[in-house]
Amino acid sequence: MAQINDNYLKLKAGYLFPEIGRRVAAFAKENPGAKIIRMGIGDVTEPLPPAVTEAMHKAVDEMANRATFRGYGPEQGYDFLREAIAAHDFRARGCDIAADEIFVSDGSKCDTGNILDIFGAENTIAVTDPVYPVYVDTNVMAGHTGDANEKGEYAKLVYIRTTAENNFTAEVPDRKVDVVYLCSPNNPTGTAMSKELLTKWVHYARQNHAIIFFDAAYESYISDPSIPHSIYEIPGAKEVAIEFRSFSKLAGFTGTRCAFTVVPKNLKGRAPNGEEVEIYKLWNRRHTTKFNGVSYITQRGAEAVYSTAGQKQVRDLVSFYMANAKIIRESLTQMGLKVFGGINAPYVWLATPGRMTSWQFFDHLLKETNVVGTPGSGFGAAGEGYFRISAFNSRENVNEAMGRLREKIKV
Ligand SMILES: *Cc1c(COP(=O)(O)O)cnc(C)c1O
Repeated sequence: MAQINDNYLKLKAGYLFPEIGRRVAAFAKENPGAKIIRMGIGDVTEPLPPAVTEAMHKAVDEMANRATFRGYGPEQGYDFLREAIAAHDFRARGCDIAADEIFVSDGSKCDTGNILDIFGAENTIAVTDPVYPVYVDTNVMAGHTGDANEKGEYAKLVYIRTTAENNFTAEVPDRKVDVVYLCSPNNPTGTAMSKELLTKWVHYARQNHAIIFFDAAYESYISDPSIPHSIYEIPGAKEVAIEFRSFSKLAGFTGTRCAFTVVPKNLKGRAPNGEEVEIYKLWNRRHTTKFNGVSYITQRGAEAVYSTAGQKQVRDLVSFYMANAKIIRESLTQMGLKVFGGINAPYVWLATPGRMTSWQFFDHLLKETNVVGTPGSGFGAAGEGYFRISAFNSRENVNEAMGRLREKIKV
């Protein structure tokens, strides 16, 4: 019989979202009249901006015509998109990133997992706790961890705890790690890293020859002008960081699929014989071998995000969700809850009232208000006692949900 990759057996059975689904389904069955509002989702709800769909329609027509039809495109993405990204997302912010350092892909989720292909198994890997679960699970699958303990923490991973006690600050560790995942603005805590903190991390990485995997999927939600949108705004970051970006939350592409990863040419890793190797070359090799490019139609849609009309439309989209976040923040604060995030990210992170566990609060909220959120403990041990509410929803649902909470939840 064929052997399996037994690292998969170490994974905690995809617990969080299936368990939410199970409890909501059971509740709905017992309470058929309940009007359930889902505030747990990390998915956008508004349609694609018109500039994007117009560009995609035009691209469809090109594909229907022999003279303008296109087959395989460059695996790394079309130049028109890579140039637009380099100009708008990086050069406009003073970051010296070239178009050919940008690798267009079908998602940041995939990229943050796939990047492990080009790194060795002996690296010490650090993640924050709570954390976007993809970073952890992909390391487990790749065999970079030991088994999980009863709290769900994997042996060999270094956990950097971020809680209200340290203001959700991912401090540099006092030991050496080789790779660290940073997500800012953060999913799930909704908080963002300051320039000072990111500068500390870049110094740490340079001193320790570490590489930072910087996930900036929510950069378009930053409202505070002092917060960096890209890690390359920090001097010296090009030698130590890979950045992951996505059109998913920026332009409603969660179902359309387009993202990109920045791998600067000055970034180096080490071979077992001590020789320095350009990470860029390895990633280019990996990407061109295992990936065959994002569809032309999708890339034209993504390019249109950078047009004048597209820029205005995505700003409006983000503003819409952030107005939801403001309503959520203010309602919960008025109720006397301790809330975090929701200013530079579409997530509000709250401390559960009365020392309830995350799941106790989940059940309480579902029963009393028929509102569904996400238990913080599902994102890691340090998320226990916290709860995530997402701003991705209609205004009507947000207002209705907050009204129910004010009426039914006693703090
Ligand atoms: C939504 C999200 C992404 C984007 O994923 P895609 O695969 O590009 O849709 C990346 N990182 C985090 C933390 C996210 O929440």
